[in-house]
Amino acid sequence: NDFYRQLPKVELHAHLNGSVSSETIDKLIARKPHLNIQHSMTAIRSGQRRTLEECFQVFKVIHQLVDTEEDILMVAKDVIKEFADDGVKYLELRSTPREDPKTGMTKRRYVETVLGAIRQCKEEGVDIDVRFLVAIDRRNGAEVAMETVRLAEDFMLSSDGVVVGLDLSGDPTVGHGRDFLPALQRAKNGGLKLALHLSEVSSQADESELLLDLPPDRIGHGTFLRTEAGDTESLVEKVRRNNVPLELCLTSNVKGQTVPSYDKHHFLYWYKLGHPCVICTDDKGVFCTSLSQEYQLAASTFDLSREVMWDLSQKAIGCTFAPLSVKEQLEQTWAELKPRVL
Ligand code: 5GP
Repeated sequence: NDFYRQLPKVELHAHLNGSVSSETIDKLIARKPHLNIQHSMTAIRSGQRRTLEECFQVFKVIHQLVDTEEDILMVAKDVIKEFADDGVKYLELRSTPREDPKTGMTKRRYVETVLGAIRQCKEEGVDIDVRFLVAIDRRNGAEVAMETVRLAEDFMLSSDGVVVGLDLSGDPTVGHGRDFLPALQRAKNGGLKLALHLSEVSSQADESELLLDLPPDRIGHGTFLRTEAGDTESLVEKVRRNNVPLELCLTSNVKGQTVPSYDKHHFLYWYKLGHPCVICTDDKGVFCTSLSQEYQLAASTFDLSREVMWDLSQKAIGCTFAPLSVKEQLEQTWAELKPRVL
């Protein structure tokens, strides 16, 4: 639908390696035919569903395909251009720095390569402002998390404002949030913004209770926040009191089976509360979607008008980790486009 593509949009929850399109996967497969990887192993197509565990297997396959600096550069540039083509004006990409002794890749080079891709897109005049969140994969434990925070701190100081924050992601059934508190607290004290995956599965209430006291600057998914935490203040109240925006990814949650169907998505609950909600893709490659498609799906599922959807996309500007001057520029862009698009 043309309207949703033309609608200027903000994407705040996009994992780099989950966002790789099938066109880019083709190029990667051609580079590494010996891996014998097929498309069916890197994407979950329409009508298909997987358990969350199976989704995490998909990322492992993609990581095999993306294991050199050259791959990362190509993947990041393609992903940025695809978001720009879809009408995204501001993008916060996130990715977990990986090292690979086989290819000589280090975590520092990994981040530098992504930042290089962002710089090249800017030089090529791609019409999108891109920032980066360094991701902690909870699977790798507390020590690596602290190491990741130090790396992010270095880049926050040297990247000209491109590295703005930290993400906590990875298999939610592995590890406990308390182990990451020292690293997250340090990051926050150092000025990194925190975008944390919270309550993605139902067993995470204790962890969310703890991490919400930081508090985070944004929450990814928050699917099970609505479940009462017990005798203390409910998780929902904590989120509302601190007005922490939610990053909501409809197709990802339905295909990953943490939400039974589109119409049961928690978007509606939070939207009706008037709470800041940002529609995002999560992994546009793996889940075969785009941000314009997610906006369209939200509109058709919950019967929301174009005016309402415009409002949602504009309000997302306030939820970015960009400095005030950038937010003002984005507001300007939205104001200029409004009479033409809406
Ligand atoms: P990368 O960090 O390698 O660029 O992107 C893939 C990684 O993002 C995955 O290995 C996983 O750690 C994280 N990720 C992607 N999608 C999800 C999701 O829906 N939930 C969680 N918790 N983590 C995710």
